[in-house]
Amino acid sequence: MSGMTPSAASLYDRVQRVIPAIEWPVFSDDIDAILRLKRERNAVILAHNYQTPEIFHCVADIVGDSLALARKAMEVEADVIVLAGVHFMAETAKLLNPSKTVLIPDMGAGCSLADSITPEDIRLLRQRYPGVPVVTYVNTSAAVKAESDICCTSGNAKAVVESLGVPRVLMLPDEYLAQNIAAQTEVEIIAWKGHCEVHERFTPEDIREMRAAHPGVTVLAHPECPPEVVAEADFAGSTAAMSDYVGREKPARVVLVTECSMSDNVAVDHPDVEFIRPCNLCPHMKLITLGNIRAALEHNRHAVTIDPAVAARARLAVERMLAV
Ligand code: SF4
Repeated sequence: MSGMTPSAASLYDRVQRVIPAIEWPVFSDDIDAILRLKRERNAVILAHNYQTPEIFHCVADIVGDSLALARKAMEVEADVIVLAGVHFMAETAKLLNPSKTVLIPDMGAGCSLADSITPEDIRLLRQRYPGVPVVTYVNTSAAVKAESDICCTSGNAKAVVESLGVPRVLMLPDEYLAQNIAAQTEVEIIAWKGHCEVHERFTPEDIREMRAAHPGVTVLAHPECPPEVVAEADFAGSTAAMSDYVGREKPARVVLVTECSMSDNVAVDHPDVEFIRPCNLCPHMKLITLGNIRAALEHNRHAVTIDPAVAARARLAVERMLAV
């Protein structure tokens, strides 16, 4: 471990269970540079739960699921926000902080859900279902949010749907999230056909095989998984709810049926829990690295911009959600 700067060295203690010592020198130089650049630029880094541990635990100031990042983005006291996550998250941060510079280290960090629906699709759905409110998952572009009545996340979708006081809603674009919420509420939910490319790959057989291979394992699934997968799980919830579950229930063995990095990030705080790690990577989340976070701060790239007319309407849908 020679050659590490003192600040990176002090951070390594925290992540040594999930980052092998041999890999650390690759990260430490960028970590020290990022810590310095954050001070120089009065910048904060917001990181999603699916970011790798050297980002999540070593350079991020605020971490969480989409809902937490959206909420905390509003309270940020900084000139610059770097969003270590995917593009729709950076747009949401910009919507809530229009006067701040919001940077995303790689413009190509998209999302299969966000790509599954366009503003035009929503306008057509409104013609087909007149008067039915449109609830849009935050995993969408600002232009799609602008066509919506209210946003939701996997953490608050049921509460948002029920807050509207109507018998029927359109819930877009995640078909599985819509079906999983429909199973928990009296409100009729009309779904779209979007899927998360990470969660749609899990199958009920995967869960049964994990239970057979790891007796006694507690299975926590994300509600973007197909309903047949959620039915096989012991608990379904957002990444924040999964993390809370592990902290509260302290299962001896657990599997988080979601993106790979989530287990590494939660494992850091729970040395007594054995994590079984099926690995489905989100290729978009993995485009964000320490190297491009550093470059983002050094070169002020890539600044997120949103057409002001679109932003005003999209912000309303996000703010309505945050008020629920
Ligand atoms: S994990 Fe799924 S929902 Fe999240 S960014 Fe990747 S593709 Fe989108």
